Amino acid sequence: MRLDRPMVIIGAGPAGISAAKTLAAAGERPVVIDENAYPGGQIFRRPPAALARNETQLYGFDASRARRLKSTFEAIAPSIEYRAETLVWSVEDRRLHLSTAGIVKCMPFSRILLAAGAMDRVIPINGWTAPGVFSLGAAQIALKAQATFIGKRVVFIGTGPLLYLVAYQYAKAGADVAAVLDSSEPFSKITPLPALLADISNFSRGLFYVSQLLLRGVKIQTAIAPIEIVAGDRGVTSIRYEQSGQQGQSDCDAVAIGYGLRSETQLADLLGLSFQFDRRQRQWLPVTDGAGRTSVPHVYIAGDGASVRGSEVAEWEGELAALSLLEDMGRGSQKRASVLRRRIDSLSPFRRALDDHVFPFPHHFAEAIRDETIVCRCEGITAGQIRETVATTGEADINRIKAFSRLGMGRCQGRVCGAAACELIAATARTDISATGRLRGQAPLKPIPLSILAGDRR
Ligand SMILES: Cc1cc2nc3c(=O)[nH]c(=O)nc-3n(C[C@H](O)[C@H](O)[C@H](O)COP(=O)(O)OP(=O)(O)OC[C@H]3O[C@@H](n4cnc5c(N)ncnc54)[C@H](O)[C@@H]3O)c2cc1C
Repeated sequence: MRLDRPMVIIGAGPAGISAAKTLAAAGERPVVIDENAYPGGQIFRRPPAALARNETQLYGFDASRARRLKSTFEAIAPSIEYRAETLVWSVEDRRLHLSTAGIVKCMPFSRILLAAGAMDRVIPINGWTAPGVFSLGAAQIALKAQATFIGKRVVFIGTGPLLYLVAYQYAKAGADVAAVLDSSEPFSKITPLPALLADISNFSRGLFYVSQLLLRGVKIQTAIAPIEIVAGDRGVTSIRYEQSGQQGQSDCDAVAIGYGLRSETQLADLLGLSFQFDRRQRQWLPVTDGAGRTSVPHVYIAGDGASVRGSEVAEWEGELAALSLLEDMGRGSQKRASVLRRRIDSLSPFRRALDDHVFPFPHHFAEAIRDETIVCRCEGITAGQIRETVATTGEADINRIKAFSRLGMGRCQGRVCGAAACELIAATARTDISATGRLRGQAPLKPIPLSILAGDRR
């Protein structure tokens, strides 16, 4: 018997598509909602038709997966209800609040599968709010979706696999990549080789990107600490950094900055899921049973939104969470679920090695943020103001600091500054990072004009 309220999947990335395929194959008709114009999520983001390029040009080694996911989506299209360019901006009482093309609607649901992905993690430095500074993901979106570069001469700074991938994509597309500045240690100092070999394909890709950058003459500096981005009236002019006690500088007119990713968990928060602190990712993540079930019976979660583990794991997790959902309706396949669990587990050593040894998040940088540096861009709150708030109130919980200082109270709801702010608060209060708590989700999750709320059609 079909339920009146549909099941909903939020996110049409690898996790969401794979979940939709599984539910459709079981005879369900899920509603798939995504704020993007096309399915594919972050990794398989597509340009508009006027800027179309083929999969190999867009996704390199991932081209065949992109083609496969695209044809999967085309094949299931008649069996699902796909709502593109639709933002889920709130959820309450088993009702989603959606915004599509300036119209808001409510959608009741029976069960929900969150596949909302991740976003960049940034650590502020002086100058990061200047014109010409982008997050790493935004730099890639400019290239993938708009076929453009963020500047004429670009520096990539931060750490993580995306740092080298995006720098390589820029260099390959003909951009002048001035430098790649990585906060992590040089590869020669990294020891956990057996764990890295657990995913030989991704490991080899990383080496390929580095070698291609070197062959193109791109300067790669490791174990760096950023000092500041220098900007004039016309935007960025250079970036200054420190390496082994020496100061360095790279001239550029744009900077892409990113220290890995953090899961998008606001919807999980609004849905009342339990969270636990993940030391490796230094983030609060929804509690799951390892197969996509959460602490709330009708809510399931998969992919980077559950824990950042890459697009292949996201795809398997999407299927696994959908199988759990079906099993809870009395229709699951334990055999397939075991296969998926084994696959996911097989890549865990690789991910752990990446997070712990190859590209550790340099949380200590937060301690060095200069007092005058803006941390919360939306409200213009500086590191000095945050330190002072911690010192004068004696508080270390980020929600309390928010109440006292307006940190994270603006348009982005702390999605951009929250992670670094927690590190800064922990360093100032000399407490463990987990003691700073997590910013409570607030609707609207992303900005929507008040005028469209006024026309709410219920
Ligand atoms: C900017 C960026 C670029 C990346 N590029 C690469 C890459 O080139 N190669 C690579 O291997 N990995 C890349 N990654 C990592 C990669 O995205 C993931 O490993 C993988 O795509 C995760 O799949 P997913 O399905 O969990 O989430 P995603 O692919 O992130 O898909 C989540 C989807 O949910 C939608 N969504 C989220 N919240 C809402 C909401 N409230 N309302 C409506 N829709 C919503 C988003 O629009 C998105 O399409 C990138 C990550 C980011 C953040």
